[in-house]
Amino acid sequence: MFKIIPLITGVLFLLGCNSNTPKFHEIISHTPQESIDELLAGNQRFLNDELININHLEQIELTKHGHKPHAVILSCMDSRVPPEIIFDQGIGNIFVIRNAGNLEDHNVLGSLEYTVHHSTAKVIMVMGHSHCGAVTGALDDIKHGHLSQLVEQIKPSIQNHNTKKKSVIETAKQSVHFTIKDILHRSKTIRQLVKMKKIELVGAFYDIETGEVKILEEYK
Ligand SMILES: [Zn+2]
Repeated sequence: MFKIIPLITGVLFLLGCNSNTPKFHEIISHTPQESIDELLAGNQRFLNDELININHLEQIELTKHGHKPHAVILSCMDSRVPPEIIFDQGIGNIFVIRNAGNLEDHNVLGSLEYTVHHSTAKVIMVMGHSHCGAVTGALDDIKHGHLSQLVEQIKPSIQNHNTKKKSVIETAKQSVHFTIKDILHRSKTIRQLVKMKKIELVGAFYDIETGEVKILEEYK
């Protein structure tokens, strides 16, 4: 047993997992690009089944007096798309805004402006995903209560392809593009911060079948 413990400690040290190694969110001065790189590195750790931000009780202790999230993710509410897990981000690492179809409205804009103007986020990531129910609803023209209004917002993004699966994917990607354009158009605060290169706005796409996140576009 005494031989196994040093071995495990050595492996954890090599993986950067020992408690003395500062995690990304503990490093205060970082750039938008470093934030994007960390999100992609976290997704790679997730894909490799090598999560490091799982010391939740320690993270509660570290963040109980404040937090300095480095990014904000506008994501779908789909239960298969949990940003903290797929980017291997711990408590206090990222802001997350979720709704069906990762859409922007007044309340979402207010939340986004808070994260980049009054708090520490350097990146706004709008992330769509494959097999999106909200996008499928728009393609199927479903009408039901308040859901009708929600799918109406996706309809201008509709891309018709040979298969339904491909149509959902391409519509979801176009919707991310339009959402980013809307954010820039409607929020003077965000537009100015992007222009000053203090933040970046990024589109991304999550593949439900593989767990991989790919960057779609960046506004620097
Ligand atoms: Zn969805």
